[in-house]
Amino acid sequence: MPIVQLDEHLIDQIAAGEVVERPASVVKELLENAIDAGASRIEIATAGGGKTLLRVSDDGCGIPETELRLAVRRHCTSKLAGGLEQIASLGFRGEALPSIGSVARLSLRSRTAGASSAFEILLDHGHCEGPRPTALSRGTVVEVRDLFQKVPARLKFLKSDRAEATAITDVVRRLALAEPEIRFEITGPDRSPTVFEAARDMGERIAQVLGEGFGENAVTIDAEREAVRLTGLAGLPTFSRGNSLQQFLFVNGRPVRDKMLVSALRGGYADVMAKDRHPVAVLFLTLDPALVDVNVHPAKADVRFRDPGLIRGLLVGALRQAFAESGLRSSSEGAA
Ligand code: ADP
Ligand code: MG
Repeated sequence: MPIVQLDEHLIDQIAAGEVVERPASVVKELLENAIDAGASRIEIATAGGGKTLLRVSDDGCGIPETELRLAVRRHCTSKLAGGLEQIASLGFRGEALPSIGSVARLSLRSRTAGASSAFEILLDHGHCEGPRPTALSRGTVVEVRDLFQKVPARLKFLKSDRAEATAITDVVRRLALAEPEIRFEITGPDRSPTVFEAARDMGERIAQVLGEGFGENAVTIDAEREAVRLTGLAGLPTFSRGNSLQQFLFVNGRPVRDKMLVSALRGGYADVMAKDRHPVAVLFLTLDPALVDVNVHPAKADVRFRDPGLIRGLLVGALRQAFAESGLRSSSEGAA
């Protein structure tokens, strides 16, 4: 068979395979866009666990009519002006909207501050229509319907509506912790509404997301090593859980699920918690963006540190010290 250049739609579908795994990954991408747009209120509506409908509305800067077509085109982004070394936004790949629109029916409605009208563009399994005028007072509304309905291989791997809805809530909780000043609301016919009101500070948002009890059962972490700062709250060993769903790790404000960080977190609790239990923690790492690569995987959940040993040592050391100061003695202390 001769070598041929793949057509655009096929390339988008391939990219979608990496970016769009399930409804929750669509929500993650749309929330990141709303946050990057400077929104102060974001509403998420879902139906059928996000399989039939996902809608994310924001009051951010909006997209000018002249840029709507670019917004749904691959490799088009307004966010990479500083180059890959200085990524200040959550998005930067210019892949999310075209990928989602290649495996679903996507509608994008938007209105910028000065515009006399809002405009809408549709991307239906790669087929683009618009922009045409529509009604919207401000910001952006992205609606995604029938995700994967024409991609049976993907559809098959989706879990129950309930499980997908839970995964969506998890994504929202993570980004809500990253952005305490933003109000988040999740609604839908298939769920009771979840609202995180705009919080005064991180402490208030943590209480909203993890419950009031967490703060009373946690130690404050604030440590620094070679200009890398670690802050947040680490649950007492007695406040453990049976799974790791209550571990929230952030690198420069971006929620991550990095294996090294998760293992370092474990390491910090190694002497004070049973092996089959999981700590509850909200931890923020802040460091020079040049010392961490977020462009490791399309979903941007993994990161690569220039000096992983430094990060690991900081995390483990800070946790152990915080527990020691709070009067918790580890079983192996003195022996080490
Ligand atoms: P990326 O976020 O990596 O740039 P996307 O495909 O997610 O790529 O979005 C493409 C572009 O569309 C963004 O760079 C941004 O300019 C614009 N955009 C997307 N969503 C929004 C939104 N909610 N508000 C304002 N602009 C948006
Ligand atoms: Mg994006």
